[in-house]
Amino acid sequence: MTVEKNEASPIRAAKVFGSNVFNDAVMRERLPKSVYKSLKKAISGETPLALDVANVVANAMKDWAIEKNATHYCHWFQPMTGLTAEKHDPFISPTADGSTLLEFSGKQLIQGEPDASSFPSGGLRATFEARGYTAWDCTSPVFIKEDGNNVTLFIPSAFCSYTGCALDKKTPLLRSMDTLNKQSIRVLKALGNTTSSRVTSTLGPEQEYFLIDKKFYDKRLDLIVSGRTLFGAPSPRGQEMDDHYFGSLHERIASFMAELNTELWKLGVTATTQHNEVSPAQYEVAPVYGTVNVATDHNQLTMETLQKVALRQGLVCLLHEKPFAGVNGSGKHNNWSIVTDDGINLLDPGSTPHENMSFLVFLCATVKAVDKYAKLLRASVANTGNEHRLGANEAPPAIVSVFLGDQLTDIFEQLAIGTAKSSRESGELKLGISTLPPFHKDCTDRNRTSPFAFTGNRFEFRMPGSTQSCSGVNFTLNTVVAEILSEIADELEKAEDVKVAAQKILGKITTEHKRIVFNGDNYTKEWVEEAARRGLPNITSSVESLQCLAEKDFVEVFAKHGVLSNDELHARQEILLESYAMTLNIEAMATLDIAKRQILPVAVSYSSTLGTAAQAVKAAGVSADAQIALLKQTCDLINSLKNAIEVLEVATKKSQHENDVNKKAALYRDEVVPAMGDVRLYADELEKVVDASLWPLPTYAQMLFLK
Ligand code: ADP
Ligand code: MG
Repeated sequence: MTVEKNEASPIRAAKVFGSNVFNDAVMRERLPKSVYKSLKKAISGETPLALDVANVVANAMKDWAIEKNATHYCHWFQPMTGLTAEKHDPFISPTADGSTLLEFSGKQLIQGEPDASSFPSGGLRATFEARGYTAWDCTSPVFIKEDGNNVTLFIPSAFCSYTGCALDKKTPLLRSMDTLNKQSIRVLKALGNTTSSRVTSTLGPEQEYFLIDKKFYDKRLDLIVSGRTLFGAPSPRGQEMDDHYFGSLHERIASFMAELNTELWKLGVTATTQHNEVSPAQYEVAPVYGTVNVATDHNQLTMETLQKVALRQGLVCLLHEKPFAGVNGSGKHNNWSIVTDDGINLLDPGSTPHENMSFLVFLCATVKAVDKYAKLLRASVANTGNEHRLGANEAPPAIVSVFLGDQLTDIFEQLAIGTAKSSRESGELKLGISTLPPFHKDCTDRNRTSPFAFTGNRFEFRMPGSTQSCSGVNFTLNTVVAEILSEIADELEKAEDVKVAAQKILGKITTEHKRIVFNGDNYTKEWVEEAARRGLPNITSSVESLQCLAEKDFVEVFAKHGVLSNDELHARQEILLESYAMTLNIEAMATLDIAKRQILPVAVSYSSTLGTAAQAVKAAGVSADAQIALLKQTCDLINSLKNAIEVLEVATKKSQHENDVNKKAALYRDEVVPAMGDVRLYADELEKVVDASLWPLPTYAQMLFLK
């Protein structure tokens, strides 16, 4: 396929879209009918893939990949670091007669065997037990990735240890999809649905990010090693003008987005929405939603592609949750719903939600799950980056609550006191302008401050951080909702009158869990007080939040649904706590390096310039009061900075020497974080007084505003 540069863009887009994906159309074209059918059955979970079928599929994939110039294939997986990993093997293998053979068997497609020893396992595997397996997730399409001249066939895979323990982010997600399917189907059957045979959760993640010019990035060790600025006095202008959100796109950014779209479309990622976000230099890209495991893979590809395309254009994409202090951070809004194979969105209220029993059951199940497992959902988004967002008067607070909006809250309240008899109608909005037709007004307004908001036909969980894999959040959500659905199914299956039983269940849920529903402004301190009165947890620290993963109820719910065994969950908790400590250690070391080797020397030499100037001025017989005052101010700050550096050095050493992972993470939070804050405080004060031409770091104004 050739795409001409000057072709109109929609035509271009249509040609490019999915061109590097071994998708349904390619399968249909290249596979014998019977093989195609067997593969489709494996994809829909009906029957496992037989080896003879896999052999034919693998061969067709190889031919297709080679036509596209691929030389290698790789099992692409997502270890518990939250990043992706790939080990490339060539299609070419040498033969005895010295020539080569192009080979790719069904076995090579289905299963790989990378050495697992360098990936974090949280104690699930001793270092000498190095064997790990990758297994093709055939529900996520195979694709071709072009990295420079390297063209490789990518096989989305799960990753487990020799003993079968999940060592990755995909395995628990796939397991959670199974349990959600099973429990949802039980409920639907009990409610009289005879048409749906499979249920999946869908995901549309909105990805926020920052773009800055690479020439600034290159001069900032903090950005290079930690992804966020550890220093920087506020820019004279921040986001107070509210002029960036949805603002017109700068030409350079527009070109970036155009190239990003092309690259994503090739991979079959349906990037659609794109716009400026709240903070200067902040943007968002969102895909059309898809099945949760595929959408999760696609989000990983999106994060990678954002960074790759940015570099090509002399930009750097910052995915960190809080790259700049004082302006908004970045999240990854997790739009989630549950759909059946015959196209019913179970979270779509329809026009008369009070009569839509399956909607009410799935809505109430989700609300109950969020209330009962609020701490678990909070833990699923805990990392150092998100600590700067949650509870820090921006994005969502650390308190989990659900926004239902007027119409559903009204129905929720009706259910609590009996049956729901009516749904509030949507209306028309008239603007009083004769040339504009009346608008259709949605039944429910939006609430941008809610961490878990109903948005018309899905829930939008807004707590996830911009760097995080979608996996943890969604396997948690799928599992806890499956758990409540299983309780509901137990009741419905033994009921004589299902309608009466369902009404009773809904009445109970709405009464017992109304505390989690909050439609007001989540950013106010009144809400923090009100939430405490309602008994809702408010966990602002990631360490404390991750420690909740050991609570009995949480261990049990993952084990019961076969999503994570006790050991697997424990391993994950350990990895997350370790990664929390390691991330802060890197930040502390970078803070010390920059403060000692860049900021202090510049401040000291500036003080010497001031000293010389004061002497010269005085010698000339003029008052040097101003020079001396400046000198004194600079020297005081140098002293304070020096002291703060010493405190941070001690705190970092102490934390490094702690072996217990819980205590270690807590030490970093309690001692290192505040000490880093102090170093930054004095350094930023110095930035405000030292000669700008000497300052070693690009400023906030340069990074945020220079296009
Ligand atoms: P917002 O106005 O909230 O910023 P966006 O258009 O930026 O909305 O993003 C909304 C996301 O929600 C998109 O990725 C969209 O595909 C996704 N979405 C829409 N419907 C569903 C659904 N039923 N399940 C999951 N995601 C959905
Ligand atoms: Mg959006």
